[in-house]
Amino acid sequence: MDFRARQRRAVRALKGSGTAEHPVEALLVTHLPDVRYLCGFTGSSGALVLGAGKATLYTDGRYTVQAKAEAVGTKVEIVSKSAVLTACEAIAAAGVTRCGFDAAQTTVASLEAMQKTMPAKLRKAMFQPVGPIVARLREVKDKSEIEIIRRAALVGCGLFDKALGMMRSGMTEVAVAAELEHAARLAGAERMSFDTIVASGERSALPHGHASAAKLPKRGFVTLDFGVVIDGYCSDMTRTVHMGRALEDELRVYDAVLEAQEAAVAAIRPRVSVGEVDEAARSVLRRAGLDQYFTHSTGHGLGLEIHEQPRLAAKQTQLLERGMVVTIEPGVYLPGRFGVRIEDMVLVTATGGEVLTPSVKAWTQL
Ligand code: ZN
Ligand code: ZN
Repeated sequence: MDFRARQRRAVRALKGSGTAEHPVEALLVTHLPDVRYLCGFTGSSGALVLGAGKATLYTDGRYTVQAKAEAVGTKVEIVSKSAVLTACEAIAAAGVTRCGFDAAQTTVASLEAMQKTMPAKLRKAMFQPVGPIVARLREVKDKSEIEIIRRAALVGCGLFDKALGMMRSGMTEVAVAAELEHAARLAGAERMSFDTIVASGERSALPHGHASAAKLPKRGFVTLDFGVVIDGYCSDMTRTVHMGRALEDELRVYDAVLEAQEAAVAAIRPRVSVGEVDEAARSVLRRAGLDQYFTHSTGHGLGLEIHEQPRLAAKQTQLLERGMVVTIEPGVYLPGRFGVRIEDMVLVTATGGEVLTPSVKAWTQL
């Protein structure tokens, strides 16, 4: 990972913030995934200041050894008080008069605390909201990130195959989740990307049905939605399989969701808007008379976090770019009856989209 290059890109993105008289000279980064992205530090407490060709990481004594090992090329300051507030004091002491921060990652309370560290004459003007500069950089993955994400996606696919081999009617959803998560750890996962979803029978109509004590039915759908974290990067995939004999409308809904999912994957390429990709899925379900049961967006970016920009939702105008990694996950949920969702991770390539989660999507009956 070339952290120095990332730091330079972040500082470059600051240009144009502030006024000609008072340009924004430094960037305070407090959102930990952003800190990790910019300097490699993976601890649970820290703040990074970028500016004037320098990067300084502030963290506490628990991370003395780890910070120096991870944040190579970045100056490390071990502090005894709050990392963020010590960083603020250092910014003022260095003569900076305008410092950018990401308002989406800063609470009102922490902004007030940051301002309180300032001498009176700097208090009002020092901290300038400059937008999600780092989040925007993180949308487009570099080679090393894509390599890790590919691995994470394939570990997920391996776990799905394992799940297929062990699922039986009568087994509880939590037992399925437990087996999956145990296998994930053995396969090298640091943790799951989010609470594993195992939603069976009627519960498959819950878009976020976390694994419960419910038993897998003799007959009906089971939706598995899960992901692993490998070297900090998240995977995310969903498959819906069927236990026992299928009813005609179950087959019809499954086919429609699969067609919608494949249409959206096929729509992915650089310079296409995320709204168009969403519409590719939604229009298939509209033709099938099912669009009112597709109650969420089509997908999201992912990387160091499970939900990142861009968001692939109706009418959104952001354009996809080569190197983005997004999910495509349309679903249809018939309350009290059943639901179907299919989700892949897709890399935006120079000419289209490459599916990173090649697990079978054809109707699967256990
Ligand atoms: Zn998912
Ligand atoms: Zn997802």
